[in-house]
Amino acid sequence: MIDHPLLIDGSERETGRWLEVTSPYDGRVVGRIAQAGAAEALEAMEAAQAAFAAGPPLPYERAEILERAALGLQAQREEVARGIAEEAGKPLLAARAEVDRCTDTLRFSAIEARTLTGSVVPFEGSSSGAGKFGYTIVKPKGVIAAITPFNFPLNLVAHKIAPALAAGCPVVVKPASDTPLTAVRLARILLEAGVPRGYLQVVAGPSGEIGEVLTGHPSVAIISFTGSPDVGRRLQAQHPDTPVLMELGNNAPIIVDASADLELAAAKLALTANIFAGQSCISAQRVYVHDSVHDAFLGLLKVETERLVVGDPLAEGTVVGPLIRPEERDRIVGWIAEAVAAGATAVCGGTVNADGTLNPTVLADVHPDMNVCREEVFGPVLTVQAVGSMAEAIALANDTKFGLQAGIFTNDIGAALAASEQLSFGGVTINESPTFRVDQQPYGGLRDSGNTREGPAWAIHDYLEETVVIWQRVPPRS
Ligand code: NAP
Repeated sequence: MIDHPLLIDGSERETGRWLEVTSPYDGRVVGRIAQAGAAEALEAMEAAQAAFAAGPPLPYERAEILERAALGLQAQREEVARGIAEEAGKPLLAARAEVDRCTDTLRFSAIEARTLTGSVVPFEGSSSGAGKFGYTIVKPKGVIAAITPFNFPLNLVAHKIAPALAAGCPVVVKPASDTPLTAVRLARILLEAGVPRGYLQVVAGPSGEIGEVLTGHPSVAIISFTGSPDVGRRLQAQHPDTPVLMELGNNAPIIVDASADLELAAAKLALTANIFAGQSCISAQRVYVHDSVHDAFLGLLKVETERLVVGDPLAEGTVVGPLIRPEERDRIVGWIAEAVAAGATAVCGGTVNADGTLNPTVLADVHPDMNVCREEVFGPVLTVQAVGSMAEAIALANDTKFGLQAGIFTNDIGAALAASEQLSFGGVTINESPTFRVDQQPYGGLRDSGNTREGPAWAIHDYLEETVVIWQRVPPRS
């Protein structure tokens, strides 16, 4: 077991108080991190403020730091993946994939730093601009207060830090209290790669004690939050004068039409509804399948779901590990029971194993008003509802307060086009599960799923302000 310090102003800090981090699988303590209080949170903000006042490294230097960090992370791939598996309960295969995706996030952020530029403005495109020419220059906005969730404790921290550093903004990260150790590992790699002191701080501690000190500090230019809609909305209400970038929840819908490759759909959806026990914001959740193929699809889905290996996240081959906390598992078991009592059929799963893991669950004959459909389950549950037409499927898919990603399985090009245009979501996948994401795509949602787009090429603009420079052509003096 390793004790981790806080990272403030380029140095490691202990506080005399420790936050114990336990494995969601077996409850064993997997590490401790120095617990920040209000004093350390304030110190972190002041260090970031001072660093910003001193000025950022040049863009090419920022790019080189991020590129070195990508190499540093790959050099520690196995150790970092194991750390994620231990503190988040994420199966090793998914934890390794997270490390690789985080490497991409760092590399694509480096590209943004290298190519950072404003744009030329076509002043003489109108008579009122005659005699003028000009362009915009971009500048970092200031200190970023970043708050991150437990479920991608590496890559979602990187999605805050890396584009902000590319833009030249200092960052103070408050990771989830369930999974703070991976954030410190990543920050150490970045500091070793050359992030200047004050440009990156990690402070872990109870949100009630340090949250407001971070988000309410006068130097904060932007609060960047990924987590649940309730907390995101609360932050927005508490800070009406600070932009709050939010990446929130979802209850991803998928349409399977009569022309779809049912085997492909069943295999992809069984996996992506259940990997890491469904604890992804774009976990596949609601399937709308055409009447004519409903029974065949359900049969395939049952087979694919029952073949997933459930258990210890540190065992090679495990796909479905534990829920982050027993209360979360109990909430989901309660929602399944409620749905069954209201007429749903449990096709498979729904039972809890001796080690506390929840077996992947398929619920058929569901109704849109059940919690398992209406709310974000954030667990290993896939619901299936039969529909009579494409129009009905699209209407049901869109009937949600969320709007992150949705998908369709079809071999009908017209249906695919209609779905991509009519599904009201930040992303639409075709013949792929909506759980799919790469780090160079724009990623974000509508309605209660958030108000921004992550992905370095998009996120960097949130961290920059633009000044237009207007020149009047004047004749030479002589
Ligand atoms: P959460 O409970 O909202 O916590 C997220 C972060 O907010 C944690 O660091 C938490 O700290 C902190 N926090 C809580 N209350 C706070 C306050 N008053 N002030 C400042 N910080 C506060 O979410 P979670 O359970 O970790 O993550 C699951 C949720 O995240 C799901 O809804 C999922 O869909 C969403 N998510 C969205 C995306 C996306 O990109 N759209 C990605 C991943 C996850 P403590 O841990 O210390 O309480």
